[in-house]
Amino acid sequence: MSNAFDEAQQQLRRALAVYPVSDDLRARLAHPEREVTVSIPVKMDDGSVKVFEGYRVQYCSLRGPYKGGIRYHPDADINEVRALAFWMTFKTAVAGIPMGGGKGGITVNPKQLSEGEIERLTRGFVRRLAPILGPHLDVPGPDLGTNAIMGIIADEYSKIVGKPTPAVATGKPISEGGSEGRAAATGAGGMYTLMALLPHLTKKKPAQMTVAIQGFGNVGSFLARNLFSEGFKIIAVSDSKGGIHSEKGLNPDAVEKYKKDNSTLKGFPGTKSITNEKLLELPCDIVVPAALENAITKHNAKKIRTNIVLEMANGPTTTEADDVLFKKGVHVIPDVLANGGGVVVSTYEWEQNLKGEHWSEKEVLKKLRTLLTRESKNVYNRSKKLKTDLRRAAFALALERLDKALDSKTKDR
Ligand code: NAD
Repeated sequence: MSNAFDEAQQQLRRALAVYPVSDDLRARLAHPEREVTVSIPVKMDDGSVKVFEGYRVQYCSLRGPYKGGIRYHPDADINEVRALAFWMTFKTAVAGIPMGGGKGGITVNPKQLSEGEIERLTRGFVRRLAPILGPHLDVPGPDLGTNAIMGIIADEYSKIVGKPTPAVATGKPISEGGSEGRAAATGAGGMYTLMALLPHLTKKKPAQMTVAIQGFGNVGSFLARNLFSEGFKIIAVSDSKGGIHSEKGLNPDAVEKYKKDNSTLKGFPGTKSITNEKLLELPCDIVVPAALENAITKHNAKKIRTNIVLEMANGPTTTEADDVLFKKGVHVIPDVLANGGGVVVSTYEWEQNLKGEHWSEKEVLKKLRTLLTRESKNVYNRSKKLKTDLRRAAFALALERLDKALDSKTKDR
């Protein structure tokens, strides 16, 4: 696997070439503000003690408290977490929300742990990180493999500080201070971004367009449902074990139910099996990487036969692949814009917790749609003005906002 943080820094250098900023900001963005590696001893169900390694990277707080998910994955390491924390810095800035960038992770395969072991691991992680967390300091949220643990994080932190502090983590169950609409937010946000940009990228209408989605987890499945209800035809979806393909189209609700009942997508009636590699190469209008980093590289970019890549995963396209796709005329809607729905609604959750309010799902999604439609147009206009692709344009918008924040922080010093 290529070095995700090198990729991230390369994206930054390419954006700086079209949108230069002060040397001060440039220097700050080359390094995280703080990185922590911790060991977490966990009593396993068989009585043994196993030690896991965890990380939190606090990349940039120029625009607000560090914000970013925690990932439980066997390949999670400090380098990956650092890259993800860097991208969060840009994602929160592109969205214009009052947050900075951070990310966390534990090297673990959560599928191999019992519920009790995951809870003890999570509580141990919070005890290690407690001194550097807090509603106005660092606010974790969910990521790969951690959708179910955010309530535990807030509960453990609250015990440590001796008072209920739900605003320390987002993505919690509604009964524990979570926001309506959070589970759906990233997928819904992808659809809002796509709909805002679509008229600029193609003459086709949704009902004439086909979509292939790699990764049918939280993000991929909600996006599929949203696109399906707008009339797009979903011709393929996949999970870590492989995918299913049907030219006639798939109903995401039926696929979801099948996966729940059978623990696999394979064998869904009326479909053919397809590998994750081949899914990305299907001829279709929109390809959606919604699983892991580096899905599209220089090795497969030439084989991509689509007009639009909607990046719902973080860092799914390498910079070399970006160049190949650009030359082929493929529009890449970058992750820092396309998958920002999750962090925006996380920020709404944090705001509701701080104010002691509870907003309806309709209100949350309406606010999200307004914000992402506005920022998608901002990014598109910038790409025209700077004569560049949507990724560099999104980075440029973020750089402008980060520069402004740095200016206001340092002007009196
Ligand atoms: P998830 O764990 O719910 O789902 C991940 C999906 O990807 C699962 O279907 C899994 O089987 C599949 N997968 C895993 N490895 C794969 C592989 N090698 N090939 C193909 N599929 C594979 O996670 P999620 O929350 O849906 O996150 C998916 C992506 O979206 C990640 O890159 C994450 O960082 C990003 N993201 C998530 C959010 C959020 O709110 N959850 C927000 C922004 C970005």
